[in-house]
Amino acid sequence: MSRIIAIGGGQASFSFIQRLRSIGYKEKITLISDEDVLPYQRPPLSKKYLLGKMAKEQLFFRPESYYHQFNIDCLLGTKVINIDRDKKKIEMEDGSDLSYDKIFLGTGSSPRKLPDHMVKEIKGIYYVRSIRDLDLVSKRFFKKQRLLIIGGGYIGLEIAAVARILGLEVALIESERRILKRVASTKVADFFRDLHKKNGIKLKENTLVEKFISESGNVKGVLTNWGERIHADFVIAGIGIKPNMALAETAGVMVQNGILVDRSCRTSDPDIFAAGDCTSFPYQGQRIRLESVGNAIEQSEVAAEGILGKETNYKALPWFWSDQFDTKLQIAGINFGYTDVVERINGEKISYWYYKDGNLNSVDAINDPISYMVGKKLIDNHQTPNPKDIRSEGFNLKSLLRG
Ligand code: NAP
Repeated sequence: MSRIIAIGGGQASFSFIQRLRSIGYKEKITLISDEDVLPYQRPPLSKKYLLGKMAKEQLFFRPESYYHQFNIDCLLGTKVINIDRDKKKIEMEDGSDLSYDKIFLGTGSSPRKLPDHMVKEIKGIYYVRSIRDLDLVSKRFFKKQRLLIIGGGYIGLEIAAVARILGLEVALIESERRILKRVASTKVADFFRDLHKKNGIKLKENTLVEKFISESGNVKGVLTNWGERIHADFVIAGIGIKPNMALAETAGVMVQNGILVDRSCRTSDPDIFAAGDCTSFPYQGQRIRLESVGNAIEQSEVAAEGILGKETNYKALPWFWSDQFDTKLQIAGINFGYTDVVERINGEKISYWYYKDGNLNSVDAINDPISYMVGKKLIDNHQTPNPKDIRSEGFNLKSLLRG
């Protein structure tokens, strides 16, 4: 009998066990999560869940009965603190241990924190990553409350949008020259900056917190590097994430900006596989880490096949999306090193097509699902459309998919 243990309770572990079952693996699987709830989806947390349009039960991938039915033993609220690779057992914080044959690491990532010396003993500063975090901070979401968001990535912007819809007063500061610097192009950032400003968000780029202002231990705002005071009743920091790789690292599994995996999602230990935010994997001649649901799903499915000994070859086909106010951004591919951008405007629908040395490498589509769908298929099939066609409003994009 082989014993497979999946560590982590997020999208990666869930997709991994689901795939194991769908390809016929029959033995018991153990899933261990340090959160005390069943595996759940994170994307709605900063959108519909915070907005109050999605109930908690809808966040869970499956109800408890699914895990019983498929012989999956969930150890919740359980933290693995060590992998003893010589004895092939894992050790838990509560002193218990379990033997394994193979391990899957879907340990995900954790929010980057503001420096301790700046925030020590100040209440009212939040991070948002888990259901628990959202449940805690959502209690502060009342009309007219002043919210300061630190960080202009997806987390910051999505939460800013929800907060405005709920009637809060919102300011957002971003340390980089522009919002979405890490994940989207200048053109997309320009669009979202306008959208947020039009909706009454005070958005300041190239701005850092010099100092937090507090009264009786509660945050009251910040002083920026420009000498400006921004008042706030509470603060949310969405300043990026770090891969959770300590468990792998202390076990002597190779890590470098993530747990190093090969194309089969195998780590430097052939009995340990990993997938999702916590991994660094080969992509177009370099190593990358992708923080996206799509990657967590697709990589975990490859890992499930690999762990059962099948030859697999993960080819990332990256995709992302973000909902802010009534706007949907969808991204296919990664615009690494693009040399040309072609803009397509079709009424309210806008898309940007990025070419690197004449080849299409990504598409950002704003309220434009057709451009996203066509762009994604073309990128996945290594096809490059003529920029002239893309620019032309009357051109039928779907015709590119024929033949
Ligand atoms: P992010 O995309 O890394 O954005 C954080 C931004 O905050 C960066 O531009 C960062 O700049 C900036 N920043 C860092 N320290 C700062 C400081 N002290 N003051 C002001 N700005 C600062 O990460 P995130 O928005 O926190 O999101 C966390 C993760 O969740 C990411 O993986 C994200 O992709 C994921 N997520 C995805 C979605 C979606 O796909 N729709 C939605 C929500 C969350 P530097 O880069 O210079 O540090």
